[in-house]
Amino acid sequence: MKGKVYLVGAGPGDYKLITLKGLEAIRKADVIVYDRLANDRLLKEAKKGCEFIYVGKASSNHTMPQKDINRLLVNKAKEGKIVTRLKGGDPYVFGRGGEEGEFLYKEEIDFEVIPGITSAIGGLCYAGIPVTHRDYASSFHVITGHLKDDDEEIDWKTVANLRGTLIFLMGLSRLKSIVQNLIKHGKQGSTPAAVINRATWKSQRVVTGTLEDIYDKVHREGIESPAIIVVGDVVNLRDKLNYFEKKLLFGKNIVVTRSRVQSSTLVEKIEEFGGNAIEIPTIEIRKIEPNDMLEDAINHIKEYSYIIFTSANGVNIFFEKLFDMGYDSRILHNSRIVAVGKGTAKELNRYGIKADIVPKKFVGEGIFEELKDIINKRDRILIPRSKGARSFLVDELSKICSVTEVKTYETLKDESEKDRLLDLINDGNIDYITFTSSSTVENFISMAGAQNIGTLRNIKIISIGPITSEAIRKHSLNVYREAREHTIDGIVQCIIEDVQEG
Ligand code: SAH
Repeated sequence: MKGKVYLVGAGPGDYKLITLKGLEAIRKADVIVYDRLANDRLLKEAKKGCEFIYVGKASSNHTMPQKDINRLLVNKAKEGKIVTRLKGGDPYVFGRGGEEGEFLYKEEIDFEVIPGITSAIGGLCYAGIPVTHRDYASSFHVITGHLKDDDEEIDWKTVANLRGTLIFLMGLSRLKSIVQNLIKHGKQGSTPAAVINRATWKSQRVVTGTLEDIYDKVHREGIESPAIIVVGDVVNLRDKLNYFEKKLLFGKNIVVTRSRVQSSTLVEKIEEFGGNAIEIPTIEIRKIEPNDMLEDAINHIKEYSYIIFTSANGVNIFFEKLFDMGYDSRILHNSRIVAVGKGTAKELNRYGIKADIVPKKFVGEGIFEELKDIINKRDRILIPRSKGARSFLVDELSKICSVTEVKTYETLKDESEKDRLLDLINDGNIDYITFTSSSTVENFISMAGAQNIGTLRNIKIISIGPITSEAIRKHSLNVYREAREHTIDGIVQCIIEDVQEG
C-alpha cells in the first residue's frame, strides 16, 4: 500500500477547534507526529495501535531538528503508512508546513494539507478580541517576532504605519524591542495592546495595556510563552466580547477521580462551563470473565421478575454479554427493570430499555424502599453488579424473595496518574476534587499518601452522595459540599453554586 502524509492544523489549543477533515486524518493515521502546541487530547481520537511520535520540546528543551522531522515523515510514508503530522494552529502560519510540503513533493510522497484555526485569529477571539472591526481595524497583519536570520530586521517604519491590527507570534522574548520600535517609528504610546498566553486553553491568561506599559505589566504578571502580542484599538473590545473567561468555571481546576471509561460525562460537563477537568483515574473497571454465573442467569432471564442495575458499568457489561450470547434486548420482556439512578437509567436507554423503576433516592436503600411493598415471595430478582458492593440490598430483599446476585465486574486500583497527582498537590493547583463513589475515595487517598492529608484538607472536596461522603469523612477529610441530586449533574451544579456564592 502507498503511504500518505496529512499536514494537519490542530488549532490553537482547545481541541474542539480542529476541523472535521483534521479529525478524520487523526482517526485514520497509522502514525501521528505532533508537537508542543497541538493539544495531545486529540490523540485519544486515534485508532488502536497508532504510533505517536512527539517532536516538540521535551524536558531537555530540545526540539527534533526540522530536517529530521521531514525525514521521519518521508520514511514512515515509504513504509506504506498513513502519517498525520499535527501542528498547532494552521500548518502554513509560521508552522513550517510549507517546508515539510516541499520536502514531501521532492520525495514524491503523496500528501494533503488540512488548514487549521490559527492562534493569530482564533487565539484573539478567545481573548475577546476580534481581529478586524468596521469601526477600528480594516486589516490585520501577522508578523513573526522571531526571524530566521537575527540580523534580518523587520521594516519597522512600514509596520508602525499600518493602521490595521498587528499580531506578533513568537515575539514574547522580544516584546520590549517590539514596542520600542513601534513607538519609535510613529505608533502612539497610548495604542491599546494585549498579550495572550496559552490562548484557547483552559489556562489562558491575558494582559492588556498600551504600548507604553504592556511590557512592564507582562513582566509583572510573569507571562510566559506561547504568547500572542496584539496591537490595535480592537483590544478595547475585550471588555464586551470576552465570553470565554466569563464562563462560570473558567480558571477552576477540578479533579475527576472516576475510571477512564466513566469520566467522560463529568469531564464534558466541566468543560462546557469552561472549567479545567483534570482526569486522575483512581479505579479501573475490570469485567469478570469468564462468567458462567452471568451466562446462566441470562439463559434463564425469563424467570426473573425484576432485574436491578446499580451502575452504568453494570448495564454495559450485562448487555455486552447478552449480545455476545446472540440475544437482544427483547429477551428482557418478562422482567421489570430497576435502575438505581438517572445515569444508570440513561445507559439503559442506549439499549432500548426504559427503566420501570428509578427510586427517588439514588442508593440501595432507595431501591429497597421502592420495592419492599410491591414484591412478594414468588418474585425472583437478579442483581448483576460489582464485586464488593454493599450487602444491604441483597440482604434486605432476600428476606422477602429469592435474589440472585451476579458479580459482573470488579474495581481495581489505578495508579497510572499517581505522579501527576502528587505534582498537582505539591503545586497547590487544585480547586476542587470530585468523588463519585467510596472506592474512588479509598484509592485516591492511598495514592495521595497520608503525608498529604493536611494539604488535601485545604481543597474543596465535592461528594456525589451520602455513602461517598461517609468514606471521605472516614479518612478525616472534610466534605465541602455534597451533591443534592446524587448524579454527575448534581456534582457540577454543586460546584457552580459554590463559585456563584464565592
Ligand atoms: N502555526 C501556529 C503558529 C506557530 S508559531 C498557528 O497558526 O497558530 C508559534 C507561535 O504561535 C508561538 O510562539 C505563539 O506566539 C503562537 N501561538 C500558537 N499557539 C498559541 C496559543 N495557544 N497561545 C498563545 N500563542 C500561541
